[in-house]
Amino acid sequence: MTSVAPPSLFIDGQWCHADSGATREIRSPANQSLVAVVDEADSADTIRAIAAARRAFDAGPWPTTPVTERAQLLTRLADILQRDLAGFAAAESGDTGKRLVEAEADIGDVIRCVRYFAGIAGSLAGRVVDTGNPNAIARIDYEPVGVCGLITPWNYPLLQASWKVAPALAAGNCFVLKPSELTPSTAILLMHALAEAGIPAGVANLVTGAGATAGAPLASHQDIDLVSFTGGLVTGRRVMAAAASTVKKVALELGGKNPNIVFADADWDAAVDNALTAVFLHSGQVCSAGARLIVQEQIHDRFVDALVERALRIRLGGPQDPTAQAGPLISEQHRAKVAGYVQAAIAEGAELRCGGQVPSDPALADGWYYLPTILDGCRSEMTCVQDESFGPVLTVETFQGEDDAVRIANDTIYGLAGAVWTQDAGRAARVARRLRHGTIWINDYHPYLPQAEWGGFKQSGVGRELGPSGLLEYCEAKHTYQNVRPGSSGWLEG
Ligand code: NDP
Repeated sequence: MTSVAPPSLFIDGQWCHADSGATREIRSPANQSLVAVVDEADSADTIRAIAAARRAFDAGPWPTTPVTERAQLLTRLADILQRDLAGFAAAESGDTGKRLVEAEADIGDVIRCVRYFAGIAGSLAGRVVDTGNPNAIARIDYEPVGVCGLITPWNYPLLQASWKVAPALAAGNCFVLKPSELTPSTAILLMHALAEAGIPAGVANLVTGAGATAGAPLASHQDIDLVSFTGGLVTGRRVMAAAASTVKKVALELGGKNPNIVFADADWDAAVDNALTAVFLHSGQVCSAGARLIVQEQIHDRFVDALVERALRIRLGGPQDPTAQAGPLISEQHRAKVAGYVQAAIAEGAELRCGGQVPSDPALADGWYYLPTILDGCRSEMTCVQDESFGPVLTVETFQGEDDAVRIANDTIYGLAGAVWTQDAGRAARVARRLRHGTIWINDYHPYLPQAEWGGFKQSGVGRELGPSGLLEYCEAKHTYQNVRPGSSGWLEG
């Protein structure tokens, strides 16, 4: 379709429409109401944005702007986000269908992330290293990588963007951001906020559109130096392969099938509570969702009964329903995928304990809701245990002892996150140490810290976001060795 909606592409400091004039309607997953009409960029628009970012990087001044000024811009951005938090949260809820309180919490996390990278930007100051030679001086300088292609998913649209945008800018890079085609609204607001904060033209660029067209050049184009992608494993492999032809720096944050291990001595109420939050937060559309419960045999029956009883009481509802505890899935297509996953699990021998269907409540009929679902009697080798559903679906396995728990939890191609529940501190430490997953929670689930690092082992990703390593992902480390007596190291001299 075409329309006269405000332009949503931000290229070279200007708002513009897609060259083709094509647009896309964004509809609320909660009730199908129209929330936005945005430009549908294709690869030509993205290439235009890449060219703008390239010019801005090569001509400056952003890459050589003093780090303190770059940090000040990020601080101004955080202040604008804080001032406009309600608008950002409403836009995030509109696109994703998530509860307003969750969206508000997400924007709070975005602000913390931006402030964190503003705060550590100064750590990029160069340092002198010892040469062992009184006539030589050596130092390491951290320089921006160049032009970054940033590709983000629909589950935490602005948060995932902030994990990339903030460190990229702190390090002096220019970028082109391509949010999910389903959730562009907060990325558009972010560009308005960056413009207000004073970002120079061409440093921050936005294209809204589909991955295969608007997104693909960010992984393949020769003028992109780094591609940072968060999304599914299959797309991540495609991005990595496309980036290989120009040997780009690649950062991938992919999915997970995250074990939540509950020992018999765990604090009962906290373990039950968190097992539910772990998997049903944001209807399971969380890369670190605890979708794989691994529970000790002697408490299995009672524990699963308690979960089922509570899962049956989870109240579904849209962003504006203050009593809702979980929202819809992102799209009809995604709900069909989740439903197919559950059907396949049952066919494989899993026992459906609750859910497994669309809710019957007529008030929810226009949204992409799916009931919280628990599949018992699962085993590692089952497809439902190995594959990510990215929906409100918990698979339950049992274990006997510590070694057994670790073996089962590591039996996956993924390695993003996991949790251990036990009151035995020694056991908690031992098990956490042996888990091949990037983040381990002990007696908790889901908290993350901008100052800690985030990233996956195995096929959950490449590289780290957040923390000091998250900043270094956007830097090249340059070693300069200066001999104050030129030529004195030459072995062919005289
Ligand atoms: P996708 O992999 O489908 O998409 C992610 C992004 O990549 C979207 O912007 C998408 O565009 C874009 N894209 C799709 N194809 C290409 C391509 N050929 N070239 C460049 N870009 C492309 O993931 P979803 O959006 O469906 O997100 C859900 C997935 O993300 C889950 O599997 C989840 O595990 C993972 N995820 C991982 C996180 C982590 O930190 N590890 C965090 C959040 C999610 P579009 O959709 O606009 O067409």
